[in-house]
Amino acid sequence: MTKKILFRFFTLLTITYFLCACSSPRQDSLSQVSTIDALLAGVYEGDVSLKQLLEMGDTGIGTFDCLDGEMLVLDGKVYQIKSDGKVYMPSIDTKTPFAGVVYFQVEDTLVSKQEIDYPSLKKMLDGIAPHKNLFYAFKIKGTFKRMQTRSVPRQKKPFPPLAEVVKNQPIFNMKNISGTIVGFRCPPYVKGINVPGYHLHFISDDRQHGGHVLQFEMFKGASVEIDCSNTFFMVLPRSGKSFNKVDLKIDRTKELHKVEQ
Ligand code: ZN
Repeated sequence: MTKKILFRFFTLLTITYFLCACSSPRQDSLSQVSTIDALLAGVYEGDVSLKQLLEMGDTGIGTFDCLDGEMLVLDGKVYQIKSDGKVYMPSIDTKTPFAGVVYFQVEDTLVSKQEIDYPSLKKMLDGIAPHKNLFYAFKIKGTFKRMQTRSVPRQKKPFPPLAEVVKNQPIFNMKNISGTIVGFRCPPYVKGINVPGYHLHFISDDRQHGGHVLQFEMFKGASVEIDCSNTFFMVLPRSGKSFNKVDLKIDRTKELHKVEQ
């Protein structure tokens, strides 16, 4: 084979691979925008549109440009739970500074046989999601005796750190409400990049209530679906200047703990 033919073959292979990589959905992959530490530090400028995000997955969680509420992605639809407690359907041109999505494929389903709260749910999920060093996505559909969530208010520049914002976070208490929890359990080594452990958001069946899950009690009979990912894909902000300026050497574990509570 001459060098010219070899070169052509290689180019063709590269193009074919590139086309495949772009057009095929990322199965078994958690795709993420930016890093949790950038968000903690106040990098709230959205860089990736919801249209682009939905090309990477149909289920997930995150936030919006200027930290304008909690995001929940379910069945390819994006819900925005703002700090007024209401649920909005944002335009696909809206941008996100931090989000994670998967193409959810049910690998295992479990039906809860007793009432459980958040700590017991974590134990139950640890039992059915045994790979501690892989990523898991969850969809939990049920009726909640009690559900407590929070949202975050839209911020203006200069952006304060997230730990400051959540000091005044609005908290929503719901009773006897049916809905779906969507979220992830990320492995410990993602510290600084995503949230190690569980991070869950909620949306009610009537799509009127939701938010970042703080605590709950769930009636028995809830269906718990899990999906494991062994591929992790990141999209980093390119146009936002603040991402490139922010100091990501700092250990923000304590700040994350304050924010997740
Ligand atoms: Zn959250």
